[in-house]
Amino acid sequence: MNGRVDMHVHTSASDGILSPTEIVDWAKKRGLKGVAITDHDTIDGIKEAIRASEQYDNFLVIPGIEFSTLYHGVEIHILGYFVDYENLELIDITNAIKNYRFKRAELIIDKLQKLNYDIHFSEVKGVVKEGAIGRPHIARILVQKGYMSSMQEAFEKLLKKGKAAYVERFKLTVDEAIHIIEKSKGIPVLAHPGLIDDGVDVEGIIRKGIKGIEVYHSKHSVFHNRLYFKLSKKYNLFITGGSDYHDEMIAGIPTIGKVFVTYDSIKEMK
Ligand code: AMP
Ligand code: ZN
Ligand code: FE
Ligand code: FE
Repeated sequence: MNGRVDMHVHTSASDGILSPTEIVDWAKKRGLKGVAITDHDTIDGIKEAIRASEQYDNFLVIPGIEFSTLYHGVEIHILGYFVDYENLELIDITNAIKNYRFKRAELIIDKLQKLNYDIHFSEVKGVVKEGAIGRPHIARILVQKGYMSSMQEAFEKLLKKGKAAYVERFKLTVDEAIHIIEKSKGIPVLAHPGLIDDGVDVEGIIRKGIKGIEVYHSKHSVFHNRLYFKLSKKYNLFITGGSDYHDEMIAGIPTIGKVFVTYDSIKEMK
């Protein structure tokens, strides 16, 4: 069975635009064998995705998470796969992070208001449904209101680190993320290493207890693919890959599955 599995997908439980049910339905329509739900710092989308998958024969939903961590001041994303999403420690920590994200969004809105943007926290809450609030939600509103021509522009002018409306987010350390993933019986995987800032000691991160590496990713070049494939062999790591789907559509069809690995290559992880 050599089906395709997209191992990196965001839903409306974090900053993706599609609900977990819509993700599963589209993934099935696009002919995938499965998807991993890897929302930022939350497991809230997993149950709904699993429920949605039950109407299909043999469609795999991998329960996952993507933690944002800090490593010597640099942001590093750590994926956790096959986590027990009923683990109490995992639930506690993700709830604490979610509460902080709420406060942070209020601080960002305060800054925007002081900069004379007519934007209110209630509007942000309106678009977040029940998920974790992030800067993309705020960026979308700035675009809708005509202040910015694209989300990219909103980040570049206001929301990214160093800009006037930036507020730091609470982040775990790499060690904490690995620890909580392992405590909840998951597999810690280094996300999109090709997007990590130059000069970071990637192998140092791997040696902290990383078990897999995201060799394939929408934003990786062929050079990255080769480099991280070699690194996976050096450290005997699982090889994963995924689209990091958030909201991209081509001719009305979401690009879920644009990057994938085969089911055979990951079934050992299970
Ligand atoms: P947050 O979780 O609020 O810090 O927002 C992080 C998310 O914002 C990332 O997952 C990306 O989806 C998005 N993002 C970060 N930087 C940019 C950027 N320069 N342009 C567009 N989107 C971005
Ligand atoms: Zn995201
Ligand atoms: Fe990421
Ligand atoms: Fe992601």
